[in-house]
Amino acid sequence: MTQDHGRREELAANLADVEGRIAAACTSAGRPREDVQLIVVTKFFPRSDLDLLAGLGVTEIGENREQEASAKLAEGGTPPGVRTHFIGQLQSKKATAVARWADVVQSVDRDKLITALARGAEAAERELTALIQVNLDPGAGAGRGGAEPADVPALADQIASSSLRLGGLMAVAPLDADPDAAFERLARLHERVLADHPQAEMVSAGMSGDLEAAVRHGATHLRVGTAILGTRVSHR
Ligand SMILES: *Cc1c(COP(=O)(O)O)cnc(C)c1O
Repeated sequence: MTQDHGRREELAANLADVEGRIAAACTSAGRPREDVQLIVVTKFFPRSDLDLLAGLGVTEIGENREQEASAKLAEGGTPPGVRTHFIGQLQSKKATAVARWADVVQSVDRDKLITALARGAEAAERELTALIQVNLDPGAGAGRGGAEPADVPALADQIASSSLRLGGLMAVAPLDADPDAAFERLARLHERVLADHPQAEMVSAGMSGDLEAAVRHGATHLRVGTAILGTRVSHR
């Protein structure tokens, strides 16, 4: 009980710090705070943290591994009022399982996955929003996932004509490059997608280390793990 209390205090303090950073970033970018949503990434951390976060008012959580997330959410279902985002690389054969619990899949990067997710969402009779993950690291190959920027307009058309809802774009900044330049490219690509699909308003970019840059370049969703949950527990 005391341990749980300590963890709650820790999460509350970290959330307050991150909230302060987001508010400051919005102010310097001249953007209203309401334009930016915080998604707390709970991968590697136990179900009890999810419940504590929900109790602290967190409404969006992110997970990156299907099995881990499904197991966590099976214990008592998704906490009330919480939307779940899948942000990890996804094999088509796991799409059905993800479609059972995710509200948003942010890592859609190929046509096979669109077909599989649409089928899964239909089978589960659920509304599923898809973001196209964009590879912003031309040198990296397909290692971290993501569609090539040139392929994004066609993928957007395909999602829009499926039973999935096209939400927008998602990206991870390249490891050792300037996040501002990468997020700027993402913003330009987003403008292009918006011209054909005005409903695709979401831009998911920015993590613990680069959320300020993401806010500067128009991110609507930030995916923050470490700065709130801490470093992953070593035995996982
Ligand atoms: C883990 C993860 C995050 C969170 O990263 P932190 O640096 O811990 O904030 C964001 N996006 C994706 C895709 C992730 O896998």
